[in-house]
Amino acid sequence: MKFGRNRKKKRENVLLAGLLDALYPPRCPICDGLLLPGTLICDGCRAQAIVLREPVCKRCGKQIRDAQREYCLDCAKKPHRYRQGKAVFVYKGGIRQSLYRFKYAGKREYAVFYAREAADLHGAWVQKNQIEAIVPIPMYRGKQRRRGYNQAEVFAEELGRRLQLPVEKKMVRRVRDTTPQKNLNEKERKDNLKNAFQFTDNIVKYKRVLLVDDIYTTGSTIDAVAEVLISGGVRDICYICISIGVGF
Ligand SMILES: [Zn+2]
Ligand SMILES: [Zn+2]
Repeated sequence: MKFGRNRKKKRENVLLAGLLDALYPPRCPICDGLLLPGTLICDGCRAQAIVLREPVCKRCGKQIRDAQREYCLDCAKKPHRYRQGKAVFVYKGGIRQSLYRFKYAGKREYAVFYAREAADLHGAWVQKNQIEAIVPIPMYRGKQRRRGYNQAEVFAEELGRRLQLPVEKKMVRRVRDTTPQKNLNEKERKDNLKNAFQFTDNIVKYKRVLLVDDIYTTGSTIDAVAEVLISGGVRDICYICISIGVGF
């Protein structure tokens, strides 16, 4: 009997997936055109998503020019609260526009492609670091209500599915809405993020956590959340961002 039920359930899931595809046909994360069944990006658009290549900074994961260097210039002079981070794409061209739509234009389905690439590129690294859970960078509640979703959370969920890791969306809360970081200098960014996050669990369930976000700029946000996790008892923090600028 049990097998029959499972088979029925499986059939229902397949039907549901087909129905969702018909209602929201999967679209290319670069050109937003309709995709051929079973693909996540058009052939022609693949080249526009520039995947990061070695050498990369051993701290933040930014691509650097000089293979002799261990860290990018930023990380060489600035300590971070996280131990190591990785990114998937260079923040320019097609990916830059893709991330804009992912964040502001409701294109949540792009997360499937981003997560597949992230898992292909860094799945082994996540395993080697014995990561126990994924924590998306939280968005201020009012902002999330207005926008409808938090893009970091959407990416985290897809990545969690791929890597079979739990996603903890409520472990850290954003208690202050912060002005967009892009208009601020380093010092202002830090002040802006002071006390913006709060640890919500009273028991520390994990020792090794992976933070995830869409774009890495200076790392101030990741550092601020890492700080809160460390004060809550988490020992080791790494991160994966979908995209990152080129370092020096
Ligand atoms: Zn395309
Ligand atoms: Zn770096």
